[in-house]
Amino acid sequence: MHFLSFTPILLLQLTNLPVLHAAKWTYTGQEGQQYWSKHYPYCGGSFQSPIDIESELLRFDPTLGPVEVQNYDLSSDEQLTLGNNGHSVQLSLPHKMYISSLPHRYTAAQLHLHWGSTSKPAGSEHLVNSQQYAAELHVVHFNSDKYPNMSMAVDKSDGLAVLGVLIEVGEFNPAFEHFLKFINDVKYSDQRVQIPGFNIRALLPVRLDEYFRYDGSLTTPPCYPSVLWTVFRNHVTISHKQFLALATTLYSSHTQDSTAVPLNSNFRKPQPADSRVVLVSFKEADESWINTGLLVPILVGSALGVVLIMSLICCLIRQKRAGPRQDKNKGAGYNIGEKDEYGSRV
Ligand SMILES: [Zn+2]
Repeated sequence: MHFLSFTPILLLQLTNLPVLHAAKWTYTGQEGQQYWSKHYPYCGGSFQSPIDIESELLRFDPTLGPVEVQNYDLSSDEQLTLGNNGHSVQLSLPHKMYISSLPHRYTAAQLHLHWGSTSKPAGSEHLVNSQQYAAELHVVHFNSDKYPNMSMAVDKSDGLAVLGVLIEVGEFNPAFEHFLKFINDVKYSDQRVQIPGFNIRALLPVRLDEYFRYDGSLTTPPCYPSVLWTVFRNHVTISHKQFLALATTLYSSHTQDSTAVPLNSNFRKPQPADSRVVLVSFKEADESWINTGLLVPILVGSALGVVLIMSLICCLIRQKRAGPRQDKNKGAGYNIGEKDEYGSRV
């Protein structure tokens, strides 16, 4: 009953959201991330992303199988839209691409990146044990079993699934070049260009079986807590030149704006993990038990053991020494003691 009476209000609010929440936002400055929650209350709420994936948060989950993606190998005949939305460079993805290894089918919608700057080439959103990578790729999918499109799914708790790929500067990456070579055509906000399809799978790490999984949010306003996050354990590389192209080519301003505002360092700071755990699909991370509850008992136990053994050794040594000395002292002591006591040594 309550649900029925609340539904019209909820629908009204959701319908108005795009209008109410059209406020401008940036990563730094007066509309920077510390102020996002003024216009976008979810940004100040719970289950926020990104997070620092620390060993203390990890829990091995043997039920987490490899991530399986379907129809990621796109033909070059297929046209994709590459665009600059003022916050990132984004590539639209066809709905035939999907993740098949989750309880629901999650259909691809778009991919985009977050990156640092030339002066500070650290721009990944997720950190691993406080380590920030140069950049991060997000491949965004929506739950197409339950929702007809991205905008209906975006604010639902089971609405989105995002694949996160950490990027380091190193070897040249030919897969990233498929779209990076066109970013000169989308220098300014709202510019778009059609580019040929390519194998999107090649943007992901080779191993799709090793990843971190947790419940989080969009990392940009309106920060809905609607994302099932998969962050791959293994990073990929792009060359220094490719990183420079990302960090120096784009602007968050429009062509006609009097001041060109460079688009870089477009990452959100890590958010509190609160009571969340991060599930891990790979056994090695299970060694994190060393860093969790068992470490203290093991250390205390070991220390007590060492103390006990040292005490025993000391006792044994003392006993061994004490035996003959006592005998000696008994005889000598008696005599010496007598002499000492009475000052009659001479
Ligand atoms: Zn993102």
